[in-house]
Amino acid sequence: ALLAAGAVATLAEVAGDVQRAAGAAERLLELLDTQSSIQPPAKPAALPPPTQGAITLDTIHFTYPGRDTPALDGVNLTIQAGERVAVVGPSGAGKSTLLGLLLRFYDPDQGRITLDGLDIRTLNLTDLRGAMGLVAQEPVLFSGSVADNLRYGDPEANIETLRAAARNASALEFIEAFPQGFDTPLGPGGVQLSGGQRQRLAIARALLKNPAVLLLDEATSALDAESERLVQQALDRLMIGRTSIVIAHRLATVVNADRLLVLKDGQLVASGTHSELIGTSALYRHLAALQFGAETPATA
Ligand code: ATP
Repeated sequence: ALLAAGAVATLAEVAGDVQRAAGAAERLLELLDTQSSIQPPAKPAALPPPTQGAITLDTIHFTYPGRDTPALDGVNLTIQAGERVAVVGPSGAGKSTLLGLLLRFYDPDQGRITLDGLDIRTLNLTDLRGAMGLVAQEPVLFSGSVADNLRYGDPEANIETLRAAARNASALEFIEAFPQGFDTPLGPGGVQLSGGQRQRLAIARALLKNPAVLLLDEATSALDAESERLVQQALDRLMIGRTSIVIAHRLATVVNADRLLVLKDGQLVASGTHSELIGTSALYRHLAALQFGAETPATA
């Protein structure tokens, strides 16, 4: 899973807005800076707005410090602006590493990653991370109110904007059911949210951030059917009009993806739509059966 360390996952979600965000986020950014091995550019280039979200990986090789086997081993990839890509592969294949390199938690040992044609190493880190929205498997919520948590996506959002994002994230109903609504405290001493509710709040936060590129590490833990349906609805709305790269654990995601990438041992071994890969890739058939219980092409 991407970014098991909660602090870093949280940071990734807020880093783009960190200058405007509250003290907690600034402390998290410092934490990342001290842990991070990347060199920020000496003369950072601004990312010209509006960000389109076109991404290329040009022969990316990356080995984690202290490891002998590469996590990514010669990955070439072009993702069109607005494309919906789902990444699948066995545990340890390099799926999370791919997202981590896009966010510049690490830099590749060889090769180049571009966003809208610009080498991401030349970009202002705040612009880069501001253009990327991460929804992690286990969304981290801060202590503070529901509204405070949502405003990490957009510190200036007024209550109407928060309500609209919550509605699109299928979260408005449960928020309004709390006696204090958007002012309900979360975290220690506050209300406890279900897994599905936490995910929908994270989706609302990402909607508020409105990134050109969405990086999504889908939760593996099972939700009940109703919660699953609400989360899927919210994700579908979140992905509209953005490039999305999803580490896929849901059948709906792979079936609806424009393209699936199959990673194995750090290499891109197959790509295509779900039905194409069911026909052409034994590894994909195996993964689909394991992860989604699907041997035959699903219709959607
Ligand atoms: P999973 O489905 O289990 O989350 P994954 O496909 O996302 O797996 P990665 O997490 O990208 O795989 O891991 C790729 C390889 O890099 C694995 O061999 C893993 O052990 C190694 N790896 C991942 N993170 C680190 C790290 N922070 N330090 C050292 N090695 C790591």
